[in-house]
Amino acid sequence: MKRGKIRLKKKLKQFKSMHICLFLLLITVSGLALAGVTAGTLLVYQRQMLSGRTTELQEYGLALSNRISASGFPSVQGTQLGAELAAAANIFDGRIVVVDGNLKVVSDTFNYEVGKILISKPVIECVRGISGQRVTKGENYVELTLPVMQNGGRENVGAIILRASLEEQNAGFERVEAWMLAFDAVLMCAVGLVAFYASTAMVRPFKAIIASIQHVTDGYMEDVVSIRGFNEVERISDSFNEMLREMKKVEESRQEFVSNVSHELKTPMTSMKVLADSLIAQEEAPVEMYREFMEDINDEIEREDKIINDLLSLVKLGRKNGEMHIAQVSINELLEIILRRIKPLAQNRNIELVFESFRPVLATVDEVKLSLAISNLIENAVKYNVDEGNVRVSLNADHKYFYITVADSGIGIPEAAQPFVFDRFYRVDKARSRETGGTGLGLAITKSVILRHKGTIKLYSRENEGTTFTVRVPLSYIPD
Ligand code: ADP
Repeated sequence: MKRGKIRLKKKLKQFKSMHICLFLLLITVSGLALAGVTAGTLLVYQRQMLSGRTTELQEYGLALSNRISASGFPSVQGTQLGAELAAAANIFDGRIVVVDGNLKVVSDTFNYEVGKILISKPVIECVRGISGQRVTKGENYVELTLPVMQNGGRENVGAIILRASLEEQNAGFERVEAWMLAFDAVLMCAVGLVAFYASTAMVRPFKAIIASIQHVTDGYMEDVVSIRGFNEVERISDSFNEMLREMKKVEESRQEFVSNVSHELKTPMTSMKVLADSLIAQEEAPVEMYREFMEDINDEIEREDKIINDLLSLVKLGRKNGEMHIAQVSINELLEIILRRIKPLAQNRNIELVFESFRPVLATVDEVKLSLAISNLIENAVKYNVDEGNVRVSLNADHKYFYITVADSGIGIPEAAQPFVFDRFYRVDKARSRETGGTGLGLAITKSVILRHKGTIKLYSRENEGTTFTVRVPLSYIPD
C-alpha cells in the first residue's frame, strides 16, 4: 500500500516538470482552439445546408399550395394534381400530404394516410390560420406545413405538408466531418511536434543553469554562469553570478580570517618558545633570570588567552541564532561601572575621564555584551590617548534610541585607516596595539554587539586631535 503510494507520488512528480507542463499546456491550448474552430465550422455548414434545403422546400411548397387552391381541391388523390404532387415529392425524395379543413387527409403521395384525420400542432395552426407556415426538423428530414387558401386568399381550406429527406445532406455532412477530423488529427500531430520542440527550447536555458550551478557546487567556484535568452533566464543567470561573487568574497574573508587567526595565535607561541629555548640553552641560569623569563612567558600566555577569548566572543556574536540575554538595564549605571573599572588605567597616565549624562536611560539590552562593546571603546580612548589627555563619555536618549558618545583627545586615526578599524585583526600601529595588550578584535566585537542590538556605530577622527565614536541603540530590543 505504502509502496504504491510512493510510486504514485513519483509518477505525479513527473508532471511537475516544467518541460511536461509546457508541452501539455501548448497541446491543450492548441487542441481546444482547433476543437472550437472545427465545431464552429461544422455548425455553420449544417445550418447553411438546412437553410438551403428549407428555402428550396418553401419555393416548392408555395407553388404547390397555389396550384392546389387553383385546381379541384379537395379532390386531389388520383387526379392529375395528385400525379404532379407525386412527381414533386420524388424530386426532393420526400412525401406530400394534403389535408382539408377538417384535418382529413385528402392526398398522400405515400398513400398511407388518405381518409384519416391528421392531428398535429403545425397542421392545426395552419388550417386555423394561426400561423402562415411552419418548419419542423427531424433527424433525417425537414418538414414544411403551409395553408391552402381559396377565395382570393381569404379562406383557409386545408393544409399541405411537405417532408423532404435530409439523408443526402446528412451523408454530405458526415463526409465533411470525417475530413475535418482527419485534418485535425494531422494538425494535432504537427502541433505536438512543435509543442515538443518549443517546450524543449524553453526549458533548455534552465537546464543549462542547473548544470552550471551543479558545476559550482562541485567546487568550481571561479566559473560564472553565462546563459543568454529570455529576460527572466538572463536575470536568474545574473543573480546567480552576483551570489557567486558574494560567496567568493565570503570565502576569501574566511581564508584571510583563518590565516590571521593562525598568525596571531602563533606570535605569543613563538615568543614563549624563544624564552624557553634561551633558558634551556643556559646551563646555570640564575633564579632571577628564570623568574624574569617566566613572567614574560606568563604575559604571553595571558595574551594568547585574551586572543582566544576575543575570538570566541566574536564567533558567538557572529552566529545568527546566538543567544541574547535581554533584560531592562539602567544604561547610566552600566556606564558608571565601566568607567569605575577603567579609571585606574586613566589615572596612571593622568588622563581625565568625564561622564556626562543628560537623562536617566532605561533600555532592554544584553547587559554583558553591551558592557563589553562600550568597554572596548572607552579602553581604546584611554589606550590611544596622550598623557594628560581627556576622555568624555556622554549619554542621551530620545523616545526611540539612546546615544553614547566616547570622545578622546588622543592620537586619532588616519583617514585612510578609518574604513578598516572595524575589521578583525586590523590595527593602525601594530607595535602600539601589542604594547597596550590589544588583539585587533576589540572594535570588531563592538560593531557585532551593536549590530545584534540593531544599532549603529559611527566614527569621527582627526590625526593628532582625537577620535569620537557615536553609538545609537534602540531603547527596546528588536528581535531578529
Ligand atoms: P586593538 O586591540 O588593537 O585596540 P581594536 O579593534 O580595538 O583593536 O582597534 C583597532 C585599531 O583601531 C587599533 O589598533 C587602533 O589602531 C585603532 N583605534 C581604535 N580606537 C582608537 C582610538 N580611540 N584612537 C585612536 N586609534 C584607535
